[in-house]
Amino acid sequence: MKFELPQLPYAKNALEPIISEKTLEFHYGKHHQAYVTNLNNLIPGTQFENADLETIIKESDGGIFNNAAQVWNHTFYFEQFSPNGDNEPTGALLDAINESFGSFDVFKSTFVTAGVTTFGSGWAWLVKNAQGKLEIVKESNAGNPMTKGLIPIFTFDVWEHAYYLDYQNRRPDHLAELWKIVDWKIVEKRF
Ligand code: MN
Repeated sequence: MKFELPQLPYAKNALEPIISEKTLEFHYGKHHQAYVTNLNNLIPGTQFENADLETIIKESDGGIFNNAAQVWNHTFYFEQFSPNGDNEPTGALLDAINESFGSFDVFKSTFVTAGVTTFGSGWAWLVKNAQGKLEIVKESNAGNPMTKGLIPIFTFDVWEHAYYLDYQNRRPDHLAELWKIVDWKIVEKRF
């Protein structure tokens, strides 16, 4: 299967100033594209040549896993933002957040702490576990919680390439600002 870089669901300058056009030109246009290109170059002649992305993520390792997971992770990350974000979760997702974390505010601070304390490159994830409850998990590098039987609901990319052009070393400031562009209507559909 030949994978393609999905279109962004907004203009490259639509998330300014939280995520600048320049950051999207590199993060989406260069990094995300490179993972797609690398994956397409790696899978011909392997057992994953005709596999879908989720199957590759669950069954591969090494370079194929790293690039497949990064393709999936970035698509999932970029699609949860919107210039019309800055809303809050409602309905069943809000109920589950309140049940697992006590409140939306506690969830947000716990999630930012998970991102800030991820050493080096990685991802903070909100996931649904086998019991249907929400948890926050940290993954290094390309890690994706679906490899542990967890269902991804929401994520923050804490690789430096996600924020360095706009925030330099200030990862906590970047993560604190990201909430302003999260569209919870999109996240609710994943729950
Ligand atoms: Mn990234």
